[in-house]
Amino acid sequence: METYDAIVIGAGQAGIPLAKKLAEAGWKTALIEKRVVGGTCINDGCTPTKAMVASARMAYLASRSQDFGVDIPSYQVDFPAVMARKDAMVKQFRNGAEKGIAGTENLELIAGNAEFTDDHEVTVYGENGDTRQLRADHIFINTGGTTKIPTIEGLKEVEFLTSSTILQLSSVPKKLLIVGGGYIGLEFGQMFQRFGSQVTLLEQGDRLMPKEDLDVCEVISDIFKDDGIEVWLNTKAVKFEKDVDGGIRVHVESPEGTKYITCSQVLIASGRKPQTENLGLENTGITCDDKGFIQVNDRLETAVKGVYALGDVKGGPQFTHISYNDYVVVTSNLLNKGNQSIKNRMVPYCMFTDPQLGRIGITEMEAKELGLDYSVAKIPMKNIARAIETSETRGFMKAVVDKKTKQILGATIIGAEGGEVMSVLQMAMMGGITYKQIRYTIFAHPLYAESLNNLFMALDD
Ligand SMILES: Cc1cc2nc3c(=O)[nH]c(=O)nc-3n(C[C@H](O)[C@H](O)[C@H](O)COP(=O)(O)OP(=O)(O)OC[C@H]3O[C@@H](n4cnc5c(N)ncnc54)[C@H](O)[C@@H]3O)c2cc1C
Repeated sequence: METYDAIVIGAGQAGIPLAKKLAEAGWKTALIEKRVVGGTCINDGCTPTKAMVASARMAYLASRSQDFGVDIPSYQVDFPAVMARKDAMVKQFRNGAEKGIAGTENLELIAGNAEFTDDHEVTVYGENGDTRQLRADHIFINTGGTTKIPTIEGLKEVEFLTSSTILQLSSVPKKLLIVGGGYIGLEFGQMFQRFGSQVTLLEQGDRLMPKEDLDVCEVISDIFKDDGIEVWLNTKAVKFEKDVDGGIRVHVESPEGTKYITCSQVLIASGRKPQTENLGLENTGITCDDKGFIQVNDRLETAVKGVYALGDVKGGPQFTHISYNDYVVVTSNLLNKGNQSIKNRMVPYCMFTDPQLGRIGITEMEAKELGLDYSVAKIPMKNIARAIETSETRGFMKAVVDKKTKQILGATIIGAEGGEVMSVLQMAMMGGITYKQIRYTIFAHPLYAESLNNLFMALDD
């Protein structure tokens, strides 16, 4: 049994900075990783997808060149080059993370799968069959999440794609069927349509992105239809058949009855689950919720004292910046006698479709459910000078405000640079700046942010 001050399981978005910080503080730290360092974000998530989204947007702009008075007579997507560009970025980010770990004193990176054998003991199973037994008073679980595969007849027999395996394709699927109308399905759907696939998106609910306001879902549906993507709402894939009509035949139940769709590839994007298989949680007092996410208190400690869970594995909002903030909360409390909590923290997020969705605070739907005394300010992108000048007029800006205090309670920007404009409003919310102050704030002309003046002018008071 080897004893450490801290064991960090998973070199993800919380695990790496956490392990480094603890080691720098003099804690003898083991960081265990079963695959490659960097976790989902660097290897299968944010970095590769946003690199590919940028290539897809370039193709889209080329297709619209005449809208700008430029004639690009033809263009071709060089998919291997797109993937090589993406791979180079992933490698660059991963190498950076590896170097950072290697250069940290008191920190040992151990390759292998970590499994709890007791509340404070872990066995690491290396690739070559070697094992090591480690013990620490402080253990941090940052094992992330993975694609949840639904149980559908015939699915196992077709070589379906996940958000990870689609990043390894060597050619563009001819006809891509996506199961799931959430953020991941939408980003891949638009991206692959732009690369040249014919994309069909299935969503069993009555709208895409069920957590967003109805007008947001509707505008995104319209944008997708505009882009030539087929969106089937209230539709469930119920059976997959291999090698029918030269492809995969998918039986779907739609409001019009049973239909058949033939495609060349299927992407499953209907949800994610915590990565806790082979983690040995059953050998500990750590508890999980009904979906398997590790339960933690506001300071991220599990039911076992000294054992913490950070990032996607603990449920709640699953974003890189949340995982990173989990690390900030834990290290502040443990190393700097802080009193940080994850309660009531701001959760901004974006969906990197084109145009982007930028979200902060509450939605109109939530304001209604909470019975708040609120108003909604809304302005279409087609009324925004910058959007007209750049021919990016799809979408709108919307904010929910408190009628009495004039504070901004939430905002949704579905439009070009939506994430950046949302961040401006996030800063206003953090600083308690009222919408009345923003109405007359001088922003540089002609920025998208400048239209926040007009957004709030739309309110009566
Ligand atoms: C396609 C896609 C796109 C995304 N885009 C965005 C985006 O644009 N913006 C955003 O904020 N978020 C995005 N996300 C989400 C984001 O990637 C995650 O929220 C983020 O990576 C947080 O991960 P984490 O720190 O919880 O763990 P991860 O980064 O997933 O790391 C977990 C690590 O633990 C390792 N591990 C697991 N089990 C064990 C074990 N038993 N022993 C040893 N090691 C183990 C894994 O191999 C992995 O390296 C995206 C996700 C996907 C799938």
